[in-house]
Amino acid sequence: MEENLKEKLFSKKEDGWKTISEREKEEIFLLSNKYMDFLNFAKTEREFIKKARKMADENGYRDIIEFDSLKPGDKIYFVNREKSMYLAIIGEEPIENGLHIIGSHVDSPRLDLKPNPLYEDIGLAYFKTHYYGGIKKYQWTTIPLSMHGVIVKPSGEKIEINIGDNENDPIFTITDLLPHLAQEQMEKKLKNGIDGEDLNLLIGSIPYEAEGVNEQVKLNILNILNKKYGINEIDFTSSEIELVPCFKARSLGFDESMVAAYGQDDKVCAFTSFEAMMELNKVKNTAICILSDKEEIGSMGNTGMESHMFDFFISEILNKLGVNRPNLLDRVFCFSKMLSSDVDAGFDPIYASVSDKHNAGFLGKGISLNKYTGARGKSGASDANAEYVAWVRNILEKNNIKYQIAELGKVDIGGGGTIAYILANKGADVIDCGVPVLSMHAPYEVTSKFDIYSAYKTYKAFWQE
Ligand code: MN
Ligand code: MN
Repeated sequence: MEENLKEKLFSKKEDGWKTISEREKEEIFLLSNKYMDFLNFAKTEREFIKKARKMADENGYRDIIEFDSLKPGDKIYFVNREKSMYLAIIGEEPIENGLHIIGSHVDSPRLDLKPNPLYEDIGLAYFKTHYYGGIKKYQWTTIPLSMHGVIVKPSGEKIEINIGDNENDPIFTITDLLPHLAQEQMEKKLKNGIDGEDLNLLIGSIPYEAEGVNEQVKLNILNILNKKYGINEIDFTSSEIELVPCFKARSLGFDESMVAAYGQDDKVCAFTSFEAMMELNKVKNTAICILSDKEEIGSMGNTGMESHMFDFFISEILNKLGVNRPNLLDRVFCFSKMLSSDVDAGFDPIYASVSDKHNAGFLGKGISLNKYTGARGKSGASDANAEYVAWVRNILEKNNIKYQIAELGKVDIGGGGTIAYILANKGADVIDCGVPVLSMHAPYEVTSKFDIYSAYKTYKAFWQE
């Protein structure tokens, strides 16, 4: 009797793996295989967008520029400077009833090359870097790194760089001090153990032999680069080159229940929402998928979510539907609903003290919704209205999707932000929801395959609502 009452009244926080059939388990593993394959070829925002654009083309989407007018069922996209992308399926309902938006980001913490990166010191050549996003600097030394990006010449010619991930390529690394001589370093606070200015990438050591020439190692490197890419030293000033871990995405654990990979924040949500979008057809409300850039450094700039580029895209839809009128864009946003699909901090038993275990997101318990972000008095939080949380819960519950509602860490310890507030400020109802991650922002992050599948199902159900 008491047990029945408990069954009836308590909210259930059971392990997701216990709730699925063999067939579902197969689906979960199939989806994560697809996800891991995708990650291995999409380590940077440019690579993600390039791959997404190709897949969108194959799935019946067309660049909005190709349309003079739009009608329900049309599948369109807009690529913003090769680094962010918006996709849409025009809904059956009048667009002024609002959009159903899912927004993630495709940039991840990494090391960027400085504009003048190359130097030589005592027979070794290096690239200087400036890290991008919130990293623990010590994690980025003594691991194999690959180089991805573009160099653009004044003529407009663009040279793509992708070196280190192919088995036959050389890799690069940042050295660290041997323990024998690290007494002083080891006394430092962890955050000061490695200096940002010391994250210098080792790139060569053979001198170019020429009489009376100094910096021969640097010269040799430039000679190699000139032969391979046709560039000179000054061409680095108009480049965007990112260093990312060479690690491949792999299944983790004897039971293969998890994924270990670089850049899962937020490519796990970007991939699952994009994948769901590719399988959609008819929708009631116009469905929008945002793959944004620059989230890790505050969403600023013309490829970040703060940019007016997104408003421009929606305005173009209104124009091409032939319905635009003064203030319609504002109205559309005010009636829109959004899932800000970004990862959550997974509860880590080794570091349990930073989380409130009653309000943390756990690996394997399904998609994690953060009603609010922010920390210490919800400072800077985008806090979803109870009415909207209930609306989202209804979708999840009627579609039998396992979910958990969590916050990022203990009240006074810290928190994080996403793009949620940007759309909420425009008037949309927004809630954060994504996959819990262990070792977030580290070179190798961990997620649960069950949660990846749960995110995919959530995003699909939201658009199909
Ligand atoms: Mn994120
Ligand atoms: Mn992040």
